[in-house]
Amino acid sequence: MLDYFSPDYYFERFDKISVDFLKENGIKTLLIDIDNTLAPYQQAEPDERVLAWLSELKENGIGFAFVSNNSGGVRVKRFNKSIGAPAYGDSCKPFAKKTVTRALSALSGDIKSSAFLGDQIFTDVWAGKRCGMKTILVPPINDLKNPFFAFKRLLEKPILKHYFKKSIT
Ligand SMILES: [Mg+2]
Repeated sequence: MLDYFSPDYYFERFDKISVDFLKENGIKTLLIDIDNTLAPYQQAEPDERVLAWLSELKENGIGFAFVSNNSGGVRVKRFNKSIGAPAYGDSCKPFAKKTVTRALSALSGDIKSSAFLGDQIFTDVWAGKRCGMKTILVPPINDLKNPFFAFKRLLEKPILKHYFKKSIT
């Protein structure tokens, strides 16, 4: 169980994921969560850091799409306005096979050479695993302080512990 939910890779922040790392690991396409992965919930638009990282991906031929559980018509649309990537809201992660298929087809990507990037194990990592993709976890930029999230984070703890133990040995 711990192995199943463990991400393949963990980074301190999205932009620590370099083009070299992606290429070395055969990742040509990234499906990316928005909230708390690229920006806090309260931040409607991408900041400089996000834009710089995404343009580096683009320049190096790494395809990307946004796959969010947040509102497609509002949150995702506004965040993506200046970026213009394939972007999907209301995607029901972890049960997002349909959206993943649509996103990969928009990017002409395939499962094998794609990774799912997000801040939640039971949403993003699980969504990727269910589709057979590689997964990359980052810590949440700014967690919502509500009991539901606190509970989810509590459940993530043993998995993270397992991940770090595994990566040291
Ligand atoms: Mg998130």
